[in-house]
Amino acid sequence: MSCLFCRIVAKEIPAAVVYEDEHVVAFRDLRPQAPTHVLVIPREHVASLDEATEGHATLLGRLLLGAAHVARHLGVSTGGYRTVINNGPDAGQTVLHVHLHLLAGRPLAWPPG
Ligand code: 5GP
Ligand code: ZN
Repeated sequence: MSCLFCRIVAKEIPAAVVYEDEHVVAFRDLRPQAPTHVLVIPREHVASLDEATEGHATLLGRLLLGAAHVARHLGVSTGGYRTVINNGPDAGQTVLHVHLHLLAGRPLAWPPG
């Protein structure tokens, strides 16, 4: 299995997991860009948002609902948070297993860099 995030799902690589259920796993980013920086990923391998199809609609919804759940769980929902899915080179996607970034704990500039 070559996909890094599939290996985290399989517990072959350790990660600081903050939430997991039947469908998603959420763990702290190795190089956090904010005081709270969590990645929410589906257990199922889908390389990117661009490769998602109609059949992945529920899976994608679960990433968003998972992020909202984690934000409440970590106590950052009142202060506010941002969710980001990078897709492709211009957006800086480095891991080809779709993932949602949950960022919180500091004011987040807009527009983003
Ligand atoms: P992308 O740039 O593809 O949107 O986000 C990939 C994220 O995965 C980056 O923020 C990077 O810091 C994080 N990351 C890369 N390798 C690992 C790892 O082995 N463990 C964890 N927890 N995060 C990782
Ligand atoms: Zn994968």
